[in-house]
Amino acid sequence: MKDINHTPKEGGYTCVVCIKQVPDTKKVTGEAMKADGTINRAALPAIFNPEDKNALEAALSVKERYGGRVVAITMGLPAAKAILREALACGADEAVLVTDRKAAGSDTLATSYILSQAVKKFNPDLVFCGRQAIDGDTAQTGPQIGEKLDCAVVTYLEKLDLDGNVAIATRDIGTGVETCRATLPALFTVTEKFGELRPFEMRRVMKYKNAEPEILDCAAIGCEDDRCGFAGSPTSVNKIESVVLAGGEFKEIAATDEGIGALVAELIKDHTIG
Ligand SMILES: Cc1cc2nc3c(=O)[nH]c(=O)nc-3n(C[C@H](O)[C@H](O)[C@H](O)COP(=O)(O)OP(=O)(O)OC[C@H]3O[C@@H](n4cnc5c(N)ncnc54)[C@H](O)[C@@H]3O)c2cc1C
Repeated sequence: MKDINHTPKEGGYTCVVCIKQVPDTKKVTGEAMKADGTINRAALPAIFNPEDKNALEAALSVKERYGGRVVAITMGLPAAKAILREALACGADEAVLVTDRKAAGSDTLATSYILSQAVKKFNPDLVFCGRQAIDGDTAQTGPQIGEKLDCAVVTYLEKLDLDGNVAIATRDIGTGVETCRATLPALFTVTEKFGELRPFEMRRVMKYKNAEPEILDCAAIGCEDDRCGFAGSPTSVNKIESVVLAGGEFKEIAATDEGIGALVAELIKDHTIG
C-alpha cells in the first residue's frame, strides 16, 4: 500500500476503521470464567470495544472536517453485526463483516493478516484502530495491520489534523504529548483521549436498525488459507493464571552503571528477562 505520491481521492479521504465486538469484562461474575481459565463469552454481554468507539470518532471527525467516507470493518461472528449497525447509526457510510470458519482460532498474527486483506480492498487514506481490545488486551492488532499494509503507523493518537497527504498527529507518550507528521496512507491506534464517540443520529438509527453489512469471507479478500485461523497462528497458550498483585519486599538499586548492571544480571539469572 506504500505510495509516496499518494494523494487523497477527489471527494475527500477514505477512512477505514476496525471495530471489534468484545465481552463486557466489567461485568465479570462467578460464571464469567470457565474452569480452564478462558472467558465464558456466553455469560457476558457483548459490547462495542470502548477504544474502537474513539477510533470511529476519529474517522468521523476526518469526514466531517475534510470530506470523504468512513468504512467500518469487523472480523467476527454474525452477532458482531450489532456494532456495525451502531457505527452506521453514528455516521459510518459502509459496514463490512469478515466472517469465515477458516478464521476460527486466529491469534493476533492471523487476525491482523485477515483484517489487512479486508482493509486493502478499500484502498484507504487513513486506517483507524482502537489502541487495545478489552478482552485480548494485546494492543498488537493495529500495528500488525499497519506492518502488513506497509504504511506509517502512529500509536496512541489523541488529536489529528490533515494537510493534503500529510497527517499531523498528536500522540500520548505517557509523560506528555508528541506531535509528528506522517505521510498518508497511515494507520492510527486511538485512545480515549481522542474524545467520546458522537451520539447516534435518531434518523440513522431507524434507517440502519436492520441493515445488513457487506459480508466477506477469507477467499473474497484474497487470503491465503495457511495464514488464517489455526494454520496461520503460531501462538500457543499453555496456561492461563489469575495473578493477584500484592505489595512485598523491595530492593533499592543504585542509579549507577554498576547498580543497573547488577540488576540486569539478576533478572537474567532468574529468567525474568533473556
Ligand atoms: C492461540 C489463539 C487462538 C485464538 N482463537 C480465537 C478464536 O478462535 N476466536 C476468537 O474470537 N479469538 C481468538 N483468539 C483471540 C484473538 O486472536 C484476538 O482477539 C485478536 O487477535 C485481537 O487481539 P486482541 O484482542 O488482543 O486485540 P488488540 O490487539 O488489543 O486490538 C487492537 C485493535 O485492533 C482492532 N481489532 C482487533 N481485533 C479485531 C477484530 N476481530 N475485528 C476488527 N478489529 C479488530 C480493534 O480496533 C482493536 O481496538 C485467539 C488467540 C490466540 C492467542
